[in-house]
Amino acid sequence: MIELKNVSTIYDDSLMALRGINLKIGQGEFVSLVGPSGAGKSTLLRLLTREISPQEGEVVLDSVDLATLSSGEVPVLRRKIGTVYQDFKLLSNKNAFENVAFALEVCGVDEDQVKDDVPKVLNIVGLSDKVNSFPHQLSGGEKQRLAIARALIHRPRIILADEPTGNLDMVNAHDVVELLMKINKLGTTVILATHNREVVNAIGKRVVTMEKGKIVRDQGDNGKYVI
Ligand code: ADP
Repeated sequence: MIELKNVSTIYDDSLMALRGINLKIGQGEFVSLVGPSGAGKSTLLRLLTREISPQEGEVVLDSVDLATLSSGEVPVLRRKIGTVYQDFKLLSNKNAFENVAFALEVCGVDEDQVKDDVPKVLNIVGLSDKVNSFPHQLSGGEKQRLAIARALIHRPRIILADEPTGNLDMVNAHDVVELLMKINKLGTTVILATHNREVVNAIGKRVVTMEKGKIVRDQGDNGKYVI
Protein backbone atom coordinates (compact mmCIF):
# COMPACT_ATOMS: atom_id res chain seq x y z
CA MET A 1 0.00 0.00 0.00
CA ILE A 2 1.22 3.46 -0.98
CA GLU A 3 -0.04 6.47 0.93
CA LEU A 4 0.74 10.15 0.56
CA LYS A 5 -0.48 12.17 3.52
CA ASN A 6 -0.80 15.89 3.03
CA VAL A 7 2.38 16.00 0.95
CA SER A 8 3.86 19.27 -0.30
CA THR A 9 7.07 19.61 -2.28
CA ILE A 10 8.94 22.78 -2.99
CA TYR A 11 11.81 23.08 -5.48
CA ASP A 12 14.43 25.77 -5.06
CA ASP A 13 12.67 27.19 -1.98
CA SER A 14 10.10 28.88 -4.16
CA LEU A 15 8.06 26.74 -6.54
CA MET A 16 5.49 24.52 -4.87
CA ALA A 17 5.38 21.49 -7.18
CA LEU A 18 2.95 19.52 -4.98
CA ARG A 19 0.39 21.09 -2.67
CA GLY A 20 -1.18 19.03 0.08
CA ILE A 21 -1.48 15.75 -1.82
CA ASN A 22 -3.51 12.93 -0.22
CA LEU A 23 -3.52 9.69 -2.15
CA LYS A 24 -3.84 6.00 -1.36
CA ILE A 25 -2.93 3.28 -3.84
CA GLY A 26 -3.51 -0.36 -2.93
CA GLN A 27 -1.30 -3.29 -3.87
CA GLY A 28 -2.17 -4.53 -7.35
CA GLU A 29 -3.89 -1.35 -8.57
CA PHE A 30 -3.31 0.17 -12.01
CA VAL A 31 -3.41 3.96 -11.72
CA SER A 32 -3.06 6.42 -14.58
CA LEU A 33 -1.74 9.75 -13.34
CA VAL A 34 -2.71 12.43 -15.82
CA GLY A 35 -2.56 16.19 -16.16
CA PRO A 36 -0.80 18.91 -18.12
CA SER A 37 2.94 19.32 -18.20
CA GLY A 38 4.14 20.81 -14.92
CA ALA A 39 1.18 19.43 -12.94
CA GLY A 40 3.51 17.51 -10.62
CA LYS A 41 3.23 13.94 -11.92
CA SER A 42 6.98 13.24 -12.11
CA THR A 43 7.53 14.91 -8.76
CA LEU A 44 4.99 12.57 -7.21
CA LEU A 45 6.76 9.54 -8.70
CA ARG A 46 10.16 10.80 -7.51
CA LEU A 47 8.86 10.89 -3.94
CA LEU A 48 8.07 7.19 -4.08
CA THR A 49 11.65 6.21 -4.88
CA ARG A 50 12.91 8.79 -2.38
CA GLU A 51 14.77 10.61 -5.09
CA ILE A 52 13.31 13.65 -3.36
CA SER A 53 11.66 14.10 0.03
CA PRO A 54 8.64 16.26 0.77
CA GLN A 55 8.93 19.50 2.72
CA GLU A 56 5.63 18.66 4.37
CA GLY A 57 3.65 15.50 4.93
CA GLU A 58 4.50 11.82 4.73
CA VAL A 59 5.12 9.32 1.96
CA VAL A 60 4.31 5.88 3.35
CA LEU A 61 5.00 2.54 1.70
CA ASP A 62 3.80 -0.60 3.45
CA SER A 63 3.40 1.31 6.72
CA VAL A 64 6.95 2.73 6.54
CA ASP A 65 7.41 6.51 6.32
CA LEU A 66 10.10 6.84 3.64
CA ALA A 67 11.64 9.77 5.56
CA THR A 68 12.72 7.28 8.24
CA LEU A 69 14.80 5.14 5.85
CA SER A 70 18.56 5.29 6.32
CA SER A 71 20.71 5.84 3.23
CA GLY A 72 21.54 2.12 3.32
CA GLU A 73 17.85 1.23 3.16
CA VAL A 74 17.09 3.37 0.11
CA PRO A 75 18.60 0.88 -2.40
CA VAL A 76 16.43 -1.84 -0.85
CA LEU A 77 13.37 0.37 -1.39
CA ARG A 78 14.42 0.98 -5.00
CA ARG A 79 14.65 -2.72 -5.71
CA LYS A 80 10.98 -3.01 -4.74
CA ILE A 81 10.13 -0.39 -7.36
CA GLY A 82 10.81 -0.71 -11.09
CA THR A 83 11.02 2.55 -13.04
CA VAL A 84 10.42 3.22 -16.74
CA TYR A 85 11.01 6.55 -18.47
CA GLN A 86 10.16 8.27 -21.74
CA ASP A 87 13.79 8.22 -22.92
CA PHE A 88 14.35 4.50 -22.06
CA LYS A 89 17.69 5.14 -20.27
CA LEU A 90 19.32 2.08 -21.86
CA LEU A 91 23.09 1.55 -21.98
CA SER A 92 24.02 1.98 -25.65
CA ASN A 93 27.22 -0.12 -25.45
CA LYS A 94 25.40 -3.15 -24.00
CA ASN A 95 23.09 -5.53 -25.82
CA ALA A 96 19.57 -6.40 -24.63
CA PHE A 97 20.75 -9.27 -22.43
CA GLU A 98 23.52 -7.17 -20.91
CA ASN A 99 21.26 -4.17 -20.27
CA VAL A 100 19.01 -6.33 -18.10
CA ALA A 101 21.87 -8.37 -16.60
CA PHE A 102 23.67 -5.21 -15.51
CA ALA A 103 20.81 -4.35 -13.13
CA LEU A 104 21.41 -7.67 -11.37
CA GLU A 105 25.20 -7.58 -11.50
CA VAL A 106 25.41 -4.23 -9.72
CA CYS A 107 23.56 -5.90 -6.85
CA GLY A 108 26.07 -8.75 -6.69
CA VAL A 109 23.72 -11.42 -8.06
CA ASP A 110 25.70 -14.51 -9.15
CA GLU A 111 26.23 -15.42 -12.78
CA ASP A 112 24.04 -18.54 -12.75
CA GLN A 113 21.05 -16.60 -11.52
CA VAL A 114 21.67 -13.87 -14.11
CA LYS A 115 21.69 -16.53 -16.85
CA ASP A 116 18.45 -17.92 -15.48
CA ASP A 117 16.51 -14.72 -14.81
CA VAL A 118 17.37 -12.48 -17.76
CA PRO A 119 15.89 -14.74 -20.48
CA LYS A 120 12.72 -15.06 -18.39
CA VAL A 121 12.02 -11.34 -18.30
CA LEU A 122 13.02 -10.89 -21.94
CA ASN A 123 10.44 -13.55 -22.72
CA ILE A 124 7.75 -11.74 -20.69
CA VAL A 125 8.28 -8.57 -22.75
CA GLY A 126 8.46 -10.49 -26.05
CA LEU A 127 12.15 -9.86 -26.81
CA SER A 128 13.51 -13.41 -26.69
CA ASP A 129 14.73 -13.10 -30.26
CA LYS A 130 16.59 -9.81 -29.57
CA VAL A 131 18.92 -10.86 -26.75
CA ASN A 132 22.01 -9.91 -28.74
CA SER A 133 20.66 -6.68 -30.23
CA PHE A 134 22.04 -3.34 -29.14
CA PRO A 135 19.64 -0.45 -28.39
CA HIS A 136 20.37 1.23 -31.75
CA GLN A 137 19.20 -1.98 -33.49
CA LEU A 138 15.83 -1.91 -31.71
CA SER A 139 12.67 0.00 -32.62
CA GLY A 140 11.27 2.55 -30.15
CA GLY A 141 8.68 0.06 -28.93
CA GLU A 142 11.32 -2.64 -28.48
CA LYS A 143 13.57 -0.22 -26.58
CA GLN A 144 10.75 0.54 -24.20
CA ARG A 145 9.95 -3.15 -23.76
CA LEU A 146 13.62 -3.73 -22.95
CA ALA A 147 13.48 -0.94 -20.37
CA ILE A 148 10.41 -2.63 -18.88
CA ALA A 149 12.29 -5.96 -18.75
CA ARG A 150 15.07 -4.25 -16.83
CA ALA A 151 12.49 -2.72 -14.48
CA LEU A 152 11.03 -6.19 -13.86
CA ILE A 153 14.28 -7.98 -13.13
CA HIS A 154 14.11 -7.50 -9.35
CA ARG A 155 10.49 -8.74 -9.33
CA PRO A 156 9.30 -5.36 -8.06
CA ARG A 157 5.92 -4.95 -6.38
CA ILE A 158 5.50 -1.56 -8.00
CA ILE A 159 6.24 -0.23 -11.47
CA LEU A 160 6.42 3.54 -11.97
CA ALA A 161 6.20 4.50 -15.63
CA ASP A 162 6.83 8.18 -16.35
CA GLU A 163 5.49 9.07 -19.82
CA PRO A 164 6.65 5.69 -21.22
CA THR A 165 4.81 6.20 -24.50
CA GLY A 166 6.07 9.75 -25.06
CA ASN A 167 8.52 8.75 -27.80
CA LEU A 168 6.34 6.09 -29.42
CA ASP A 169 3.77 6.01 -32.19
CA MET A 170 0.24 4.94 -31.37
CA VAL A 171 0.72 1.26 -32.23
CA ASN A 172 3.84 0.92 -30.09
CA ALA A 173 2.25 3.02 -27.34
CA HIS A 174 -0.65 0.57 -27.14
CA ASP A 175 1.77 -2.40 -27.11
CA VAL A 176 3.69 -0.91 -24.20
CA VAL A 177 0.52 -0.18 -22.27
CA GLU A 178 -0.78 -3.68 -22.91
CA LEU A 179 2.47 -5.01 -21.51
CA LEU A 180 2.07 -2.84 -18.39
CA MET A 181 -1.47 -4.19 -18.02
CA LYS A 182 -0.23 -7.76 -18.33
CA ILE A 183 2.37 -7.09 -15.63
CA ASN A 184 -0.37 -5.57 -13.47
CA LYS A 185 -2.53 -8.67 -13.91
CA LEU A 186 0.35 -10.69 -12.48
CA GLY A 187 -0.05 -8.66 -9.26
CA THR A 188 2.31 -5.70 -9.67
CA THR A 189 1.04 -2.23 -8.82
CA VAL A 190 1.46 0.07 -11.83
CA ILE A 191 1.44 3.86 -11.76
CA LEU A 192 1.49 5.31 -15.25
CA ALA A 193 2.11 9.07 -15.53
CA THR A 194 1.07 10.23 -18.98
CA HIS A 195 -0.30 12.89 -21.27
CA ASN A 196 -1.60 10.29 -23.68
CA ARG A 197 -5.36 10.69 -23.64
CA GLU A 198 -6.07 7.85 -26.06
CA VAL A 199 -3.97 5.40 -24.08
CA VAL A 200 -5.60 6.34 -20.76
CA ASN A 201 -9.09 6.09 -22.15
CA ALA A 202 -8.35 2.64 -23.54
CA ILE A 203 -7.05 1.33 -20.19
CA GLY A 204 -10.35 1.58 -18.31
CA LYS A 205 -8.79 1.73 -14.82
CA ARG A 206 -8.44 4.32 -12.06
CA VAL A 207 -7.47 7.80 -13.30
CA VAL A 208 -6.00 10.43 -10.96
CA THR A 209 -5.89 13.88 -12.50
CA MET A 210 -3.43 16.53 -11.33
CA GLU A 211 -3.31 20.24 -12.01
CA LYS A 212 -0.86 22.76 -10.58
CA GLY A 213 0.40 20.42 -7.89
CA LYS A 214 -3.01 19.23 -6.71
CA ILE A 215 -5.21 16.24 -7.31
CA VAL A 216 -8.33 17.65 -8.91
CA ARG A 217 -10.07 14.37 -9.78
CA ASP A 218 -9.78 10.75 -8.70
CA GLN A 219 -11.93 8.39 -10.75
CA GLY A 220 -12.24 4.69 -10.03
CA ASP A 221 -12.39 1.92 -12.61
CA ASN A 222 -13.10 3.01 -16.14
CA GLY A 223 -11.82 6.52 -15.42
CA LYS A 224 -11.31 8.88 -18.37
CA TYR A 225 -8.83 11.59 -19.26
CA VAL A 226 -10.89 14.75 -18.83
CA ILE A 227 -9.09 18.07 -19.07
P1 ADP B 1 4.85 16.88 -14.70
O1 ADP B 1 5.54 15.57 -14.50
O2 ADP B 1 3.37 16.80 -14.42
O3 ADP B 1 5.14 17.52 -16.01
P2 ADP B 1 6.77 17.89 -12.77
O4 ADP B 1 6.59 17.11 -11.53
O5 ADP B 1 7.89 17.54 -13.66
O6 ADP B 1 5.38 17.89 -13.58
O7 ADP B 1 6.91 19.43 -12.39
C1 ADP B 1 6.10 20.09 -11.43
C2 ADP B 1 6.64 21.49 -11.25
O8 ADP B 1 7.91 21.42 -10.62
C3 ADP B 1 6.86 22.24 -12.56
O9 ADP B 1 6.53 23.59 -12.36
C4 ADP B 1 8.32 22.06 -12.83
O10 ADP B 1 8.85 23.14 -13.57
C5 ADP B 1 8.91 22.02 -11.42
N1 ADP B 1 10.12 21.20 -11.35
C6 ADP B 1 10.21 19.88 -11.68
N2 ADP B 1 11.45 19.42 -11.45
C7 ADP B 1 12.18 20.47 -10.97
C8 ADP B 1 13.53 20.63 -10.54
N3 ADP B 1 14.40 19.61 -10.55
N4 ADP B 1 13.91 21.86 -10.11
C9 ADP B 1 13.03 22.89 -10.05
N5 ADP B 1 11.74 22.81 -10.44
C10 ADP B 1 11.31 21.61 -10.90
